[in-house]
Amino acid sequence: QRILVWLRNDMRLRDNPALYNAAEAGEGVVAVYVLCEDFIERHSTAPSRLDFIRRHLRQMQTDLAERNIPLVLLRVRRAGEIPHQLLSLSRREGCHSLYFNAEYPLDELNRDRAVAEYFHDHDRHYKRFHDRVILPPGKVRNGQGEPYQVFTAFKRRWIQMARELPMVPHGLPAVQPKALGQVSDAGMTLDSLFRGVHLKDLSALWPAGEEEALSRLAEFADGPIRDYKSKRDLPAEAATSTLSPYLAVGSLSPRQCLTAALSANEGRWDEGSEGVTTWISELVWRDFYQHVTVDFPVVCKHKPLQGHTDAFPWRDDEEDFNRWRRGETGIPIVDAAMRQLLDTGWMHNRLRMIVAMFLTKNLRIDWRLGERWFMSQLIDGDFAANNGGWQWSASTGTDAAPYFRIFNPVTQSERFDPDGRFIRKYVPELARVSTRQIHQPPPVPGYPAPMVDLKASRKETIALFQQLNGSS
Ligand code: FAD
Repeated sequence: QRILVWLRNDMRLRDNPALYNAAEAGEGVVAVYVLCEDFIERHSTAPSRLDFIRRHLRQMQTDLAERNIPLVLLRVRRAGEIPHQLLSLSRREGCHSLYFNAEYPLDELNRDRAVAEYFHDHDRHYKRFHDRVILPPGKVRNGQGEPYQVFTAFKRRWIQMARELPMVPHGLPAVQPKALGQVSDAGMTLDSLFRGVHLKDLSALWPAGEEEALSRLAEFADGPIRDYKSKRDLPAEAATSTLSPYLAVGSLSPRQCLTAALSANEGRWDEGSEGVTTWISELVWRDFYQHVTVDFPVVCKHKPLQGHTDAFPWRDDEEDFNRWRRGETGIPIVDAAMRQLLDTGWMHNRLRMIVAMFLTKNLRIDWRLGERWFMSQLIDGDFAANNGGWQWSASTGTDAAPYFRIFNPVTQSERFDPDGRFIRKYVPELARVSTRQIHQPPPVPGYPAPMVDLKASRKETIALFQQLNGSS
């Protein structure tokens, strides 16, 4: 009997528990990928991310074929069709079990539950593994057995637990070749799978595949990681790993990242390179937000984690929102950041916080609109990290920025892009403005004046939050 492995955002052979365990246990493996049109629409998946997935699937087809594992491609209109499609496939190909790696947003959990139940009802087995996090959700608990809402406390406990994990040096080995590898019906071709789907090719910036991901990780762990603490907030420097697209599509696992970081620090968790320990903290943030989506599923329902903030009077202003989206706000650092997103499908973390605060606190536009716009553009779009980042910036979530601590984008710009190098790269209209003036330029032909008074809007937002919290 063979085992069916359902690939989702885990597009790699190494350190892939579902694939590895299937290859170990079964008398052969069939892999399947299901494209769900409804999920693409409802989750606003970015065309750049869809193309990245497409390119990863092409690579996976080759890599799996070398190991005699066929990859079947299926397309459905709605997630509700998936249980039946997977069951028919497993019957046709003689697979008694279905293996997959967990995904944690509510839609995905519901989809997987429906598949599991359907398999159970039809006398077939399924097994779920955890690969998207270093410690699975539900495991990191406080003394009362409750989930953490505050990051620092979560991190302390997380590190205690992670230190006990058996760290396989390079994660699980790649799956081994096994005999047999034919399927009676290979499903669709890659071209037909994506027919009519809006794709954006960013392959020059973001080459696909596990080898690319591992070589970026090795390069980062070999050098830049050491200066990560001091340089990570400077968007003009190539100081962060840029691994997020690979982690999102799963051509890299967080465990591989942790292992590489620890070995760059001779296995030490809290001594040695501060760059390494700071970078590990980011991996903990990543786990934290994945856990939040499971522990507080309300965040998956377009709701704030802090329920009372749902009454905040967000402004409905399409024109202002469009100016922010296009990078035409008249605040140079915000515009440079928004154009980086449009051009590259990615944005530096410091800038994500700046533009999210600007939208929610200065323009007072609903964070959910910003969240959706990011998902529709980001090649690294990940529900948990994106929702967590937006709710943090809007002061509606776990560990949220206190409502009165509002970034001033001009001050942030002076501090983190001191010579204006980043601004000049993405806002050519300002290329000739002096460094002294670039953060808040005088009128420049072709470049808009600031669309909002930063001080007045900040004051107004704080007053509205005070009213909301009943503390005015
Ligand atoms: P590095 O600095 O090298 O960090 C290493 C890895 O740690 C990242 O690749 C990422 O997987 C993880 N990580 C780092 N910071 C965070 C964080 N704050 N929260 C969760 N994980 C983190 N990240 C996404 O992967 N997808 C998103 O859709 C996303 N949306 C965001 C939206 C907002 C408003 C904010 C403020 C942050 C968002 N982030 C998101 C987190 C962060 O900005 C990116 O992970 C980071 O910029 C990716 O660059 P890097 O790979 O060079 O990160």
